[in-house]
Amino acid sequence: MPSVYNRERRRFWFERQQGKCCWCDKPMLWIERWPAERSGDTPLLMCTLEHLRTRADSARRDKPAKGERRTAAACFQCNRLRASGRYWPWPLLPLPPIIAQGDDGASTMGG
Ligand SMILES: [Zn+2]
Repeated sequence: MPSVYNRERRRFWFERQQGKCCWCDKPMLWIERWPAERSGDTPLLMCTLEHLRTRADSARRDKPAKGERRTAAACFQCNRLRASGRYWPWPLLPLPPIIAQGDDGASTMGG
């Protein structure tokens, strides 16, 4: 199976990016698995796992720098276009800020 189906990472980035593509910022569709026999009509906004360093990139063999992202969630359309080796001018969009969810104890200031 192609590694775009690495479910855990894909899901992690999908949620971390609030469901938006790391390149085009469009809201992606979460689809657990698209049947291979229907690959011809894969939804363009399906969430896929994007490898930010391609196999051709020698830095891929190095350990990631601190905080360096090696993967991200990208829509199928962007992922496919980028993988085609065409000139890719778009910068990786910054991650949205982490929104504190409920009481995690980190923001207990007085009270
Ligand atoms: Zn996209």
